[in-house]
Amino acid sequence: MLGLYIHIPFCKAICSYCDFPKEIANIDKQNAYLKALIKEMEHYNLAALTIDTIYIGGGTPSALNQDQLHFLLSSIKNVIDVTKLQEFTIEANPNDITLEKAKLFYDFGVNRISLGVQTFNDYHLRSVNRKHTNNDVYHAINALHQAGIANINIDLIFNLPKQKLEDVQRDLETALTLNITHISYYSLILEENTKLYYDVLKKKAVINDEEIEAEMFETIIKTLKSSAFKHYEISNFAKEGYLSKHNLIYWRNHDYIGIGAGSHGKYQQQRYFNHRSVKFYIEQVNAINHGKKERYAYEPLRDTFLLGLRLCKGVNIAAIEKEYAIDLFTQYPKLKDYIKQELVEIVDNHLRLTNKGLLLGNEVFAIF
Ligand code: SF4
Repeated sequence: MLGLYIHIPFCKAICSYCDFPKEIANIDKQNAYLKALIKEMEHYNLAALTIDTIYIGGGTPSALNQDQLHFLLSSIKNVIDVTKLQEFTIEANPNDITLEKAKLFYDFGVNRISLGVQTFNDYHLRSVNRKHTNNDVYHAINALHQAGIANINIDLIFNLPKQKLEDVQRDLETALTLNITHISYYSLILEENTKLYYDVLKKKAVINDEEIEAEMFETIIKTLKSSAFKHYEISNFAKEGYLSKHNLIYWRNHDYIGIGAGSHGKYQQQRYFNHRSVKFYIEQVNAINHGKKERYAYEPLRDTFLLGLRLCKGVNIAAIEKEYAIDLFTQYPKLKDYIKQELVEIVDNHLRLTNKGLLLGNEVFAIF
């Protein structure tokens, strides 16, 4: 499997918790960026490759206007046969989705939309500077269905400032009434150098302690597991047949090419990341046709565990022992302790995190 990730680092407003590569830019800068993206795609000679999935993420890809999206999608279509893709996803904010935009996506082969919903509570949305409302979500989903796109993910966040367990329960109830196929449910991470981080430091915002966060996560898992959604990755739930094929490429440690400012890639036995600054990215692509800032070691065994353990099914022990000529417990003796502490378990010859381990994944990941 080979995936293509394309980053659109523009947003109409900046959410207080966000540390993704993004900025508010004028239309000239956006157009210069799109031209650089196309140039970088040419550098990888995508026409000669078999691409299985495309994911256009951000930032906010849907923040581009109709002409810009047309330019981007038609440029992709010129080099990639989109009818052969297994999945073609674009991220969008609910208030950007019009029927016109939804039809444009459909016409250019996009068959999956990931909507940045975060919560259905307008108060919590405003508190983190999200500009859409609960109503926009319903309009967006209707427009997408009308245009012929039925494979819809919603991103939700729990542990937002002042959010209570009851709020999360209400968000879950609402999510389960929607005609969607996939839910990504992430805990808010307080990243340094974000507005929220400084607000918390100055005590202008308060976030819950770890116990409440864990309670919220357990409620999410329990509620979604008893619905039509299958829990298949730490933070991801899908209806039958709708697991994210693109994201599975990451978790199964397959190759993907990252295009655009701040993108990461794993390709030809190397991992790399591009310049985060849009300005530097454009300058470098114009000079040498790609935006790579740094290449770094690809460690297949470590990465297979770190990524594969995110999947609820876990990693196939026999396959890994054979491929890397190792004995699991000789290589990682601490695993025995984690089995005793019920953080990991072996089921069907797969090593996987237990429910307790899902909450403390980072502790387990540290041994790899
Ligand atoms: S829309 Fe997404 S990328 Fe943009 S600021 Fe908000 S969270 Fe960050």
